[in-house]
Amino acid sequence: MDIMMVDLKGQYLKIKDEVDAGIQAVIDSSAFINGPAVKEFREKLGSYLGGTHVVTCANGTDALQIALMALGLKPGDEVIVPAFTYVSSAEVIALLGLTPVMVDVDPATFNVTAGNICQAITPATKAIIPVHLFGQSCDMEPILELAHAHGLYVIEDNAQAIGAEYTFSDGHKEKTGTMGDIGCTSFFPSKNLGCYGDGGALFCKDASLAEKMSMIANHGQKMKYRHSVIGCNSRLDTIQAAVLNAKLPHLDAYSEARRNAAGYYDEKLKTLDPGEKFFTTPAKSKHSTHVYHQYTLKVKAGKRDALKEYLAGRGIPSMIYYPLPLQEQEAFKGIAKASGRLDHAKECADSVLSLPMHTELTSEIQDKVISAVKDFISGR
Ligand SMILES: *Cc1c(COP(=O)(O)O)cnc(C)c1O
Repeated sequence: MDIMMVDLKGQYLKIKDEVDAGIQAVIDSSAFINGPAVKEFREKLGSYLGGTHVVTCANGTDALQIALMALGLKPGDEVIVPAFTYVSSAEVIALLGLTPVMVDVDPATFNVTAGNICQAITPATKAIIPVHLFGQSCDMEPILELAHAHGLYVIEDNAQAIGAEYTFSDGHKEKTGTMGDIGCTSFFPSKNLGCYGDGGALFCKDASLAEKMSMIANHGQKMKYRHSVIGCNSRLDTIQAAVLNAKLPHLDAYSEARRNAAGYYDEKLKTLDPGEKFFTTPAKSKHSTHVYHQYTLKVKAGKRDALKEYLAGRGIPSMIYYPLPLQEQEAFKGIAKASGRLDHAKECADSVLSLPMHTELTSEIQDKVISAVKDFISGR
């Protein structure tokens, strides 16, 4: 049995009939572009998220770009992003001639905090992009308060946390991606809600902003061949929407399966290393459920690469998300600004190791991973 980081085939086989029927229906209708499955998906996802407008697009990176375009930011405007994340958010900021301002992250949850963001605000700051990294929400209430106090837009990068829920101090809960002005997500196959190719979406509660974003995603036209703003060509493929319609009803069960697998890792790994001498298991936020897009250890004292290599030797894949913080990426030299020293982002990049995590994990597979970690620790 091959151990995989993600088991898309195993997941597909359990819902094969639904997926195949959905794809076949698109082919039968030949409505390949903006077919009925796309509208159906937008509506179903909007209600799953607790009532929000959904604008579909071609991928998660486009979603972030369209969000920034819709807010009408101007060259020189600063947008705050975490230094420890996937490149997309900072990339689209720079692509639009805006200035990415990198801030440090909380070394335990890997997420940005209001405290990190606060220090980076200048008169040029216009927006913040909190990224809900690895499957749990940033602590949004203080971030939203800060944004409100300074008149800043909040764009949530929810590519890794769809289905997670944040609890406010008054006890009410909201799904990630629906708390800021705009939420963005990706349906890349390995994401928690993934299609069988590329896909993305934007969420927002403001109907006119949603309409503007949908216009931007469609060449800036409301009416065919009448272009009122500069837009782009960014569509969710109808076949991909059909796959997503088949998968969305299972999303909560998928999150539960990931949480169960994470619970199993937590329990076994903590008993292997009770003093946390070798690694720490993922920290859980007090304010958010965790949907474990990744199960990420922090490995101590320069042992991360050796552990990765040891696991590989035992046939166990593991991944480093992300090996370089943004401040060390060549592309951003001279383009991005750093707020402070970004030491935690660096430390995370040097110590993280993500173990196999997916909806089809069994305790049998996990036991193999765990016993390899155990052997590494005991030096065998
Ligand atoms: C995957 C991902 C994206 C980009 O999504 P694509 O669909 O690959 O463009 C953006 N941000 C984060 C945090 C991601 O994990």
